[in-house]
Amino acid sequence: MLILGIETSCDETAVALVRDGRLLGQELATQVDTHALFGGVVPEIASREHLRVLPRLYQELMRKTGVSADDLDGVAVARGPGLLGSLLVGVSFAKGLSLACGAPLIGVNHLWAHLLAPGLEGELRFPALGLLVSGGHTHIYLVKSPTEFTLLGRTLDDAAGEAFDKTAKMLNFPYPGGRYIDELAQEAEPDTGLFPRPYIDNPTLDFSFSGLKTAVANFVAEHPELVFGTMADPQAVADLPAQRRAALARVCASFNWSVADTLRIKVERALKQVGEVRSLIVAGGVAANTGVREAMRGVAEAGGIELTLPGLALCTDNGAMVAHAGWLLAKAGYRHGLDLEAIPRGRIVPLDWERVRADA
Ligand code: ATP
Ligand code: MG
Ligand code: FE
Repeated sequence: MLILGIETSCDETAVALVRDGRLLGQELATQVDTHALFGGVVPEIASREHLRVLPRLYQELMRKTGVSADDLDGVAVARGPGLLGSLLVGVSFAKGLSLACGAPLIGVNHLWAHLLAPGLEGELRFPALGLLVSGGHTHIYLVKSPTEFTLLGRTLDDAAGEAFDKTAKMLNFPYPGGRYIDELAQEAEPDTGLFPRPYIDNPTLDFSFSGLKTAVANFVAEHPELVFGTMADPQAVADLPAQRRAALARVCASFNWSVADTLRIKVERALKQVGEVRSLIVAGGVAANTGVREAMRGVAEAGGIELTLPGLALCTDNGAMVAHAGWLLAKAGYRHGLDLEAIPRGRIVPLDWERVRADA
């Protein structure tokens, strides 16, 4: 079964082909440098960029893999949650292609695609506890199968990635700054008393990262010497003078620890609540974070369950995860009609697919 995956939910335009669960090829164009000029994603620009580059990426993918549209058994597209204008570009393209080549349309939940992505690298073991930590979401799911996700907890305000990026902005790092914080954090030990671990005393599995953001803002206001000048250029980070670099590294290590340990506490709590699961899946851009990866290794080891972490390229947005999730859905007999809707951020993606007989 050969599935095309299309991803345009935010600022990466990406396409990929998955045949029977294995990646055949993929193309990706990131808009990160464009949005970096504004310190965040500008939705209008993002949509226009998707519109400009998606057809070319698709043609490149088909040329390199030698696949033609008539070979496709399904056209999978990230249908949300994401930036609405951006999603509409991918969904419209997918509908047009599905109409033209006759392959069924499969609307993929972008967040589920993130969590299922490590299935491209090894077998996923269900039931699993899924932690999605990305730029727009912090969700804990019980994942019974590739098509059965129960949301157990979510952030009430900022997502983990957003907390990283906003903190990075306050520290004057280039956008998106999560990875700069992580890189510098490797050079120091955390001060575990510097920043709070937000919302851990609350008994739920929900998160709230806005308090952490405020703590950083207060810290920065008290230490203006740490953040003077602009570092919008990555070279400026590389060229930081030693003393200032060491002080910033300690801040970054402490921030990394606060986020990672907050995630650890909630995931441990979730594991107790759900009882027996076979694996812990951690996905999304923040799953690339060294502190988060380490904390999750500890949780899995203590719980005696397998830890499933996608490789770094599969953590952030990509087409492979959409094609792969589409393949899992297609295999289970799911498809959408041409009335498939795109779902903006903040709304739950409905289970509005029609189920066709797998052999139909
Ligand atoms: P969503 O999937 O919720 O719509 P998104 O797809 O935009 O959001 P991702 O691409 O999964 O999010 O992740 C991007 C986020 O990951 C950014 O906030 C970025 O700063 C963060 N990130 C990437 N690498 C690291 C790292 N090493 N440490 C911390 N954060 C990181
Ligand atoms: Mg992105
Ligand atoms: Fe994403």
